[in-house]
Amino acid sequence: MTTHTVDTVVIGAGHAGLAVSRLLTQHGQEHVVLERGGVGERWRTERWDSLHLLTPSWMTRLPGWYYTGPDPDGYLSASQFLRSLQRYAASFAAPVVGGTSVRSLRAARDGRFALHTDGDTWHARHVVLATGPHGTPHVPAGLARSDLHVVPSNRYRNAEDLPSGGVLVVGASASGTQIADELARAGRDVVLAVGRHTRMPRRYRGMDAFWWLERTGRLARTIDEVADPDVARRETSLQLVGRNQPHPHGSDLDLAALHRRGVLLCGRLQGLDGGAATFAADLPTTVASADRTMHRFLDVVDRHVEEAGLTREVLPARRPTRFTPPPAPTRVPLESQGIRTVVLAAGYRPDHPWVQLPILDRSGAVEQYRGLTRVPGIYVVGQRFQHRRDSGFIDGARHDARTVVAHLSRGVLPESAPRAREESAA
Ligand SMILES: Cc1cc2nc3c(=O)[nH]c(=O)nc-3n(C[C@H](O)[C@H](O)[C@H](O)COP(=O)(O)OP(=O)(O)OC[C@H]3O[C@@H](n4cnc5c(N)ncnc54)[C@H](O)[C@@H]3O)c2cc1C
Repeated sequence: MTTHTVDTVVIGAGHAGLAVSRLLTQHGQEHVVLERGGVGERWRTERWDSLHLLTPSWMTRLPGWYYTGPDPDGYLSASQFLRSLQRYAASFAAPVVGGTSVRSLRAARDGRFALHTDGDTWHARHVVLATGPHGTPHVPAGLARSDLHVVPSNRYRNAEDLPSGGVLVVGASASGTQIADELARAGRDVVLAVGRHTRMPRRYRGMDAFWWLERTGRLARTIDEVADPDVARRETSLQLVGRNQPHPHGSDLDLAALHRRGVLLCGRLQGLDGGAATFAADLPTTVASADRTMHRFLDVVDRHVEEAGLTREVLPARRPTRFTPPPAPTRVPLESQGIRTVVLAAGYRPDHPWVQLPILDRSGAVEQYRGLTRVPGIYVVGQRFQHRRDSGFIDGARHDARTVVAHLSRGVLPESAPRAREESAA
């Protein structure tokens, strides 16, 4: 066992940890990045084969780096993004110590922090947690004890990898809808348990949804400006897919498209009951609520077009057609339908068993404001809506990384311009 002493330890070499490392390097701040796998580990081992980013390539900006490839409006595949991260780390010789899992983080006697890995101990004055916004996949009640083959979305690879037969997919945000679509195209019978989700057309008035989110200031909105921070942090991911090729049914992947493809849409999964899956009778209300949220955002876009005088520069407003879901069963016998597999895309729960410092809230999430925790010297980056709406996106990490590094190296918390509080709409 070796003991190392260093000024700063960053835990995690995803894009957020690397953004911090790039800025620490720029400030000449001594540090290491401890990573249980390699650079971009989750993009290498926890994404399905066909996944493309939801965010267009122009939204792939990190400190000192931005996308310069041939198609800024396209969507990088997971492996292309992984290679970008590897090149980014190499560009400033990021001091990544790979194959090193942090097993505990606690206060040491000399006012520093002690981090135990499998073999070594690291002592540091500052620690930045960059272990990602996702903890452990949420497993709905009953599934953990069933004899079904349960595959969380971060373990799903492709349709061929699953046991034969039908599949129950739980969750209808970006991951659940993409996986349900892929399985249905592969000829599987698919039942989709639809929970809370945010419907969004890929393009509106000719421009990408993310272009509008940025243009209308939605991505820069800070947590100080929203009416209810807890609600804002629980917002579901947008029901989008990043497809580079024109698609025969258009590029939207919504419940209407899945219904056309033969996916059986049900309400929220309630549990398993004697070989059957039971669902809430809430599909119509969930769909209506997702549509309302989408239209509120599209209203914001239309107002922006008028106010900014863009009417002649973008296409006329054509809203996505209303989808009225067909009557949904509340009980589906699994075996008689040939369903032996469940793919879970129902979100994640915080999971920091190795953090032995009073920085977690009752749910186990890191309590922070602008990346500073209750324990001076301990910081976090990459959390959902950490400070800005885009904090959990690749493109947003640079802002939080700058705040954290400014405070860590100079004790300064950069100003964030307060704007009017607004209701959340997409
Ligand atoms: C399916 C999916 C698609 C997404 N698509 C997009 C998209 O299109 N655009 C977008 O902007 N965002 C997207 N996101 C959201 C977000 O950008 C990713 O979740 C991103 O991986 C988060 O980056 P991160 O650096 O914060 O964390 P991660 O990428 O999760 O990196 C954390 C790192 O910490 C390491 N680690 C964890 N625990 C320890 C430990 N104890 N010791 C040492 N190392 C540890 C992990 O191995 C990992 O490498 C997507 C997320 C998912 C799940």
